[in-house]
Amino acid sequence: MIKKISFFLILFLIFIACNNCPKATSLPISQSKGVHSTEINNDTIQILSLDFNEKNLLLIIGNKITSFYHHPVAYASGILPKSSIVPPRARYSGNKIIQYLKDQNKNHYRFVVGLTSKDICTNANGISDWGIFGLGSLDASGCISSTCRLKKGVSEKKVIERLEKVVLHEIGHNHGLAHCISPYPCFMKAADGKISQVDSEPMDMCVECKSKIKM
Ligand SMILES: [Zn+2]
Ligand SMILES: [Zn+2]
Repeated sequence: MIKKISFFLILFLIFIACNNCPKATSLPISQSKGVHSTEINNDTIQILSLDFNEKNLLLIIGNKITSFYHHPVAYASGILPKSSIVPPRARYSGNKIIQYLKDQNKNHYRFVVGLTSKDICTNANGISDWGIFGLGSLDASGCISSTCRLKKGVSEKKVIERLEKVVLHEIGHNHGLAHCISPYPCFMKAADGKISQVDSEPMDMCVECKSKIKM
């Protein structure tokens, strides 16, 4: 589902109506920490940890990104911008986080992949803070993925598998891919808010999506 929001295009990833995630707390604005200059080039993706508690997953996600998209990755950490908090449930606006990722990308990474454990949202279905798994722009501004809605009642192995799919999906958007409508199994399908859709998807794009981005 493609929606025009503000001045750049945002594609919704996956919505769920779950309201049982921890409420976010107010946090100060902070710039991410710097990374070593030798890691920086136009093909490198920056993975920016923003209030991301599952630090042991960072390398796993980075390696998955490199193995699938062949992008080098650089790592940095920070906190979510306070300005992205959406009342009344204090979730964080995925759209505002993506704008933040774009604004703070002073080193000109190809784009920035944000990871957080906080609950993120977007304006959808008439609700200003509709909870989502992730959000990615079609204009390579960046993407944000959250573990908040991936963790309930499942093993760490399952959380990793879900997060890998969500992150790879959002990066697909950053490469310009819309949701896949091919008849083939593909992680670029719209999940329509269902974690079961994420779980049923392969850890792969279909041939049609791959051909669109010349993979
Ligand atoms: Zn999507
Ligand atoms: Zn596809």
